[in-house]
Amino acid sequence: MSENTLFEMKNVSQVFRAGAVETHAVANVSMKIAKGEFVAITGRSGSGKSTLLTIAGLMTKPTMGEVLLANHNTALLSDRQTAALRARHIGFIFQFFHLISDLTVEQNISLAMHYGKMPPSQIQARCQELMAQLGIEHRKAHFPSQLSGGQQQRVAIARALANCPSLLIVDEPTGNLDSESGYMVMSLLQQANQSGQTILMVTHDEDCARLAQRRLKMNDGHLQ
Ligand code: ADP
Ligand code: MG
Repeated sequence: MSENTLFEMKNVSQVFRAGAVETHAVANVSMKIAKGEFVAITGRSGSGKSTLLTIAGLMTKPTMGEVLLANHNTALLSDRQTAALRARHIGFIFQFFHLISDLTVEQNISLAMHYGKMPPSQIQARCQELMAQLGIEHRKAHFPSQLSGGQQQRVAIARALANCPSLLIVDEPTGNLDSESGYMVMSLLQQANQSGQTILMVTHDEDCARLAQRRLKMNDGHLQ
């Protein structure tokens, strides 16, 4: 892995078997992401984009191939070591936010830092900083159900950035938002990238994809 490369997939495939049916969701994908890059993947529904992201985010071990992150070959790690690497290096943002409904905005963000093993004395200040940065400070005592979709996604972005991940993995961030909130979310992601955050994003929205530096297309499990 060259010094500038943060992430690499080598000949990665994912096959799902359900009875006699085999789905080749990801078919022999190789790719590299350099530190600081913003890469967008587009493609039709069912083309394997989300499956590729769960592999990239070390949530799924691929059927075949290798995933390298920050100079670690994850194929050689135990599940426990992989989970530790994921907690330290990866942040996730999903289409449906996935906030914890009975925790407040502040608690949702703080919890990520507890999991990330941040010293408790630093958590409150970091949480404050993130909420200010994302314009959600005035909602810190609110629960997710009391927020608009755009506000929930901003909380999810704060949570994803909380532990300063090496790689931010983003699946259809605007898929469940009106166009104005979607625009806001995209400009926050762009800002994060401008301050050095590496991003791998999947979207079906061409306007969102245009904001990335590099665009790839997924088609029937193949990445082009
Ligand atoms: P996309 O995100 O591009 O819409 P997905 O990665 O969700 O595509 O799905 C790719 C293909 O893999 C689809 O045919 C889907 O039905 C199949 N698939 C995804 N996850 C599973 C699973 N856990 N079990 C079986 N098939 C799956
Ligand atoms: Mg998907």
